[in-house]
Amino acid sequence: MNTGDYGLLDIEETPAREGRPVRRPVRRRVRALRPARAGARGLGGDDLLLGQHGVRDVDLGADLISSGHRRLRKTITRSMGAASLTIMALRPDEFYDHARAAADDEVRLPLARMTGWNISPFEADGLRVSVLRPPVVPEPPRHGEDPADCDECRSRNEGIWINDRWRLARIPGVGVPLVLMLYPRDHYDMADLPDELAAELGVLTTHIVRHVQALPHISRAHVYRIGDGSAHLHVWFFARPEGQSQLYGSWLPVWDDLLPEYPADVAEADATAVARALTASYGGTAQTPAAT
Ligand SMILES: [Zn+2]
Repeated sequence: MNTGDYGLLDIEETPAREGRPVRRPVRRRVRALRPARAGARGLGGDDLLLGQHGVRDVDLGADLISSGHRRLRKTITRSMGAASLTIMALRPDEFYDHARAAADDEVRLPLARMTGWNISPFEADGLRVSVLRPPVVPEPPRHGEDPADCDECRSRNEGIWINDRWRLARIPGVGVPLVLMLYPRDHYDMADLPDELAAELGVLTTHIVRHVQALPHISRAHVYRIGDGSAHLHVWFFARPEGQSQLYGSWLPVWDDLLPEYPADVAEADATAVARALTASYGGTAQTPAAT
């Protein structure tokens, strides 16, 4: 499929992250910060809200406490019995150092546990992990950060289905039986959606999943929202073919990229069936494929 238009790179990466269990309990994450001990700068005081038990249990370094006040972007609060602990998120350089500590001399991490799953499209033998690159901040802008340059805004009337606020399009050239994309017609990212549209997104997502899964020989509709490639909200729906249990789970977008293109006329007919079912169940208008 055309990865450039739709930012598939972030899709390939995200399942890998999502598929991993949380690696470290709170206590270990805090200790991982302690090596950044260069230059004690004194206690900042009010940025870490530590109960006495919390201080003793996690043994926070004074430098960690002090440096957090200026760079704190988000916090995680955990209950520790009667005490409450607020923990700082890792800075980009701290995150890189933390990951690099687990890498080899070439800065390659060990193979993911996911490659050992029986749904992995790759056999572990002969695979090697890419060199882990250091963080780049600030991050480069995504496509469409300025709505004036946003392709999705220019395509606000296109798709197999449309209503006043949303449109649904079929993504051509894919390997799975059907990939659909839901967009707000106006320029919103997910975090910016007004509550009314957010509520509608939930209902629409449910209806689309229901209609995709009602197609012949489709077992599941996987739903992804990633958003690293484009600033305009776009929600993916991947149809997983019936019986193809090797395509279970978070490897599906990678399998999709490996598979030959699914017959376009069949995908188009399935997309039309979904659009008509959505019109019947939710309203809006099914549009002809030529408008897609
Ligand atoms: Zn836009």
